[in-house]
Amino acid sequence: MKAVVLYSPNDFKTVEDYPKPTIGPNDMLLEMKRTAICGTDIRILEGKKTKSVRYGHVIGHEISGVICEVGENVQGYQVGDRVAVENVIPDGSCAMCVSGHDNICLNRKAIGYEFDGGFAEYVLLPQEAIEGGNVVKLSDDVSFGEGALIEPLSCCLRGQKNAGVKFNDVVVIIGAGPIGLMHIILAKAAGARKVIVSELNEFRREKAYECGADIVVNSAEEDLKQIVMNETDGIGADVVLIAIGIPQLVNSNLELVRKTGSVCLFAGFTKGVMAEIDPNLIHYGEINVCGSSAYKRQDYHEAAQMVMSGAVNLKPIITKVFKLEEFQEAYEAVKSGKELKVEIEP
Ligand SMILES: [Zn+2]
Repeated sequence: MKAVVLYSPNDFKTVEDYPKPTIGPNDMLLEMKRTAICGTDIRILEGKKTKSVRYGHVIGHEISGVICEVGENVQGYQVGDRVAVENVIPDGSCAMCVSGHDNICLNRKAIGYEFDGGFAEYVLLPQEAIEGGNVVKLSDDVSFGEGALIEPLSCCLRGQKNAGVKFNDVVVIIGAGPIGLMHIILAKAAGARKVIVSELNEFRREKAYECGADIVVNSAEEDLKQIVMNETDGIGADVVLIAIGIPQLVNSNLELVRKTGSVCLFAGFTKGVMAEIDPNLIHYGEINVCGSSAYKRQDYHEAAQMVMSGAVNLKPIITKVFKLEEFQEAYEAVKSGKELKVEIEP
């Protein structure tokens, strides 16, 4: 089958002869329809993220498709089912899982990491994913393009839960890439009274308004902190969500929240790069600094319901679709910053 094989950092290409997976009696085979490219995929392709990455294999973890083979022991699915796939497979029994944090399972496996991912014509859905409830049927009116985005949306939902975004909050979102835009959509859906977005790129600033932002700031020309203070009577925002992985931004973002506010380091940062922060901002401000990694099973199912019910509209975020054999162009399109979500379809 056609697949994009990652041989080593910065060495990947689409091949025609990657072995098509063979399913066992407890597995299913997915005919991939759409796999979105994630910022994490770019970091993996460039060797900036290496944990659980298997060279010589296929990555891609924002996946939707059609079930094309069902193992004889599998219950509840049929050939032809349109599905989206929750890629994280927690073990359910480690200290994190049993305390309700399956998103940071100590023994997690994931499709696109330990299992071959979605940048291929077919994806094996292993027994543990099926039995864990990772394969979610899509309603007919949800496109495969949106289905693939349930995964990143559920990550954003986890970040907003960790940060405690709630009704009537003023929320600042740093960066209006695909993830920042999803944060805008979710914050508005959560009842935020004001969403302030910082973004350097003009196209993305327009998209931020389209996704529901109230105020969009070009922080190269405008003073973000001053604007946030003006909009909050000098108190500061309730929540800041950092959706750009630039460590140097962390400290200035601590200055945007009110005392007792939350700052969520949502984006992944390049391994080993340090950030200098003023700990007194956290101490005297009683600021809650949180991380956010992946999503809980509950988050994925909630995100899927939000997409299927029409409570959120992710269509404006998908700006370009490429074929598997055009993966290099797709990679460059993501890198250029001119597109938002770029998706691959066979
Ligand atoms: Zn676990």
